[in-house]
Amino acid sequence: MKTIQHWIDGAAVEGTSGRFGVVTNPATGEQTGQVALAGTAEVDNAVAAAAKAFTDWGQVSLSKRTQILFDYRELVHQHRDEIASLITAEHGKVHSDALGEVARGLEIVELACSIPQLLKGELSTQVSSRVDVESIRQPLGVVAGITPFNFPAMVPMWMFPVAIACGNTMVLKPSEKDPSATARLVELATQAGVPDGVLNLVNGDKEAVDRLLTHPEVKAVSFVGSTPIARYVHDTAGAHGKRVQALGGAKNHMLVLPDADLDHAADAAVSAAYGSAGERCMAISVVVAVDPIGDELVDKIAARARTLRIGPGTDPTSEMGPLVTAAHRDKVASYVPQAREQGAEVVVDGTDLKVEGHENGFFVGVSLLDKVTPEMTAYTDEIFGPVLAVMRAESYEQALELINSSKWGNGTALFTRDGGAARRFKLEVEAGMVGINVPIPVPVGYHSFGGWKDSLFGDHHIYGNDGIHFYTRGKVVTTRWPDPSDGGIDLGFPANS
Ligand code: NAD
Repeated sequence: MKTIQHWIDGAAVEGTSGRFGVVTNPATGEQTGQVALAGTAEVDNAVAAAAKAFTDWGQVSLSKRTQILFDYRELVHQHRDEIASLITAEHGKVHSDALGEVARGLEIVELACSIPQLLKGELSTQVSSRVDVESIRQPLGVVAGITPFNFPAMVPMWMFPVAIACGNTMVLKPSEKDPSATARLVELATQAGVPDGVLNLVNGDKEAVDRLLTHPEVKAVSFVGSTPIARYVHDTAGAHGKRVQALGGAKNHMLVLPDADLDHAADAAVSAAYGSAGERCMAISVVVAVDPIGDELVDKIAARARTLRIGPGTDPTSEMGPLVTAAHRDKVASYVPQAREQGAEVVVDGTDLKVEGHENGFFVGVSLLDKVTPEMTAYTDEIFGPVLAVMRAESYEQALELINSSKWGNGTALFTRDGGAARRFKLEVEAGMVGINVPIPVPVGYHSFGGWKDSLFGDHHIYGNDGIHFYTRGKVVTTRWPDPSDGGIDLGFPANS
């Protein structure tokens, strides 16, 4: 059984707190490892290494930083299969999906490779007589990243490539449920030439997080996880004077108008609801069907859902793997009988699925609930599993009102052939990421990712231009080189002339 350690100052460091977390293979239910859970002293060591490294790293030339990032991009690309296997072994998602996650993370490394362009300042000459003004952006110092279990490679890669490209040093705290893929990514950074101390990793739980949120040397915190913890991270780190971006949970609606191509919409709903077993913050968890297409759309979704192949992520024929833990599987499954009791129609019930040869794995089949209403728990809670709710609406306006009443506003999608309706929707809907005939509108690396309302606390989205802004602070320099003929005292407030 392996032990996953910390990575501090360019080397593996054994945990000293005496506390360990359990790491399991969700497809078999077996414990495969233990992860060291850092105490305050270990977090302090990592922050001290990062603070020491910042003195030099903040001064390293843009061309050198770029070259290291290019080398890192190549190295991760070469190791993508190995990283995907680590994800499948601890998260459970199928290998092809894990490879997709690595590819989407690499997009952000590629973005960071263009850091000289992204960090360019602005210059105005002759704003007043012989006066020039320049705006520049400088790194913050030590920054922290705290990440969830569902994307152990991609979400850390939303953070550290941009953070270090901007000249910061970082301490990452990945999810304790599936820490190995993140640990490998950090090791590879050292191999690619990222200097010791620039990118550090501490494994841990609340104790490690709390230290990062309050440590005086940590200047900014990026967090991705569930809404209650995102709110806590935002409030705690904010109260300690830190810049915070805290991305939370979601309930993503897919609105289907009567003119939509229903086969296309059903394909999209099934892919976006059940991919990665619904453990995606951008998963579609609610389909809102506008009358009169509800029955036909539900039939089409159900027919497709029943054909999905569920099995271990290492089997290339599996389309969906297990859930991350037994406790999460049981919680997800409990929403189906609850919905039935509360009046929903259970069209597909996947709760008693058994996968032959993997009876101890954390599998659950896919479920489809119809005629869900806003007060049912299947609607009010983020289930984060393969349970898709269908709701009915009489009109576009009623559907929009439903979506905009949600406390979350991460992603949403509209399926239609009507350009005018699409235009209204993109302007009227209250969510940070909108898809038009695209069910999972995760922005590409050079646009930023982020939701509204309880899906994001703080005012910066992640990666893209917002990422550059988040990890740097602005400085404006006003310069006058006087002409030799200038001179004289003037007690007036400087006005431009
Ligand atoms: P989580 O909130 O349980 O954990 C996230 C991180 O916070 C982990 O590193 C964990 O160790 C730490 N943590 C957990 N409890 C804590 C506590 N009490 N105090 C301090 N730190 C704590 O989330 P998860 O279950 O790992 O991930 C799933 C959630 O993440 C879902 O809600 C999903 O929607 C959300 N998510 C959101 C996005 C997004 O971009 N908005 C992306 C991915 C996942």
